[in-house]
Amino acid sequence: MLILKLNNFKSKDKKITKILEIYRKTEEFIDLECPYCKSDELIKWSSYARVIYYLNENNELKGELLEIKRVKCKKCKKTHALIPECIVPYKQPTLDVILKSINEDPETYEYPFSYETIEHWKQIYKKRYLPYLKTMFNSIKEIIPRILENIFNVYEEFYKINKKILMMSHKGIINMACF
Ligand SMILES: [Zn+2]
Repeated sequence: MLILKLNNFKSKDKKITKILEIYRKTEEFIDLECPYCKSDELIKWSSYARVIYYLNENNELKGELLEIKRVKCKKCKKTHALIPECIVPYKQPTLDVILKSINEDPETYEYPFSYETIEHWKQIYKKRYLPYLKTMFNSIKEIIPRILENIFNVYEEFYKINKKILMMSHKGIINMACF
C-alpha cells in the first residue's frame, strides 16, 4: 500500500472534498516510490471501488464510492494500492470521522457506527497513544494558566491537544500499514 501524502497534492486547499477530487484526477505518480524496490517508475494499473465516509464542509457525514487506484512498479512488477492520506488503511471512515467519533459524547452521537466499532477504534489509537502522553502532559502544563483564566474553555483546549496527539498516533499507524 502507498499513501499519497498531502504534500504530494499541488493544491493548497486541504479540504477533504478537494483532496478527493484531486486524487480522482491524478494520473501521474510523482514523488512516490515502490515500497519494495524503491524504484520511482510506477504506472497506472487498475482500480477497485471502496465505500468511504467523510465529513463535508458543513461537518455532515457523507458516504460515497471511491475508485482506489492501483499502481504497478515497472522494475519489480509488484502492484500497490494508492490511497490518499486522509483515508485510514482498511477502514471505510476517513481520519476526520474516526477522530470525531472517538471524541464524541456517546449521548449525542449521531453517526451510523456502533458502540463496539468506536470502542475498537479507541483501542487501536490507545495503543499508539501512550508514548505521546508525555507530550500531552507537557502541553497541559502550558495551558494551566489559561484554564485558570477561563474555566469554560477547558474542554475546547483539551480537545485540541487530544486531536493533535491522535493525529501523531495516526501517522505511526499509517507508517506501519505501509510495510
Ligand atoms: Zn518495485
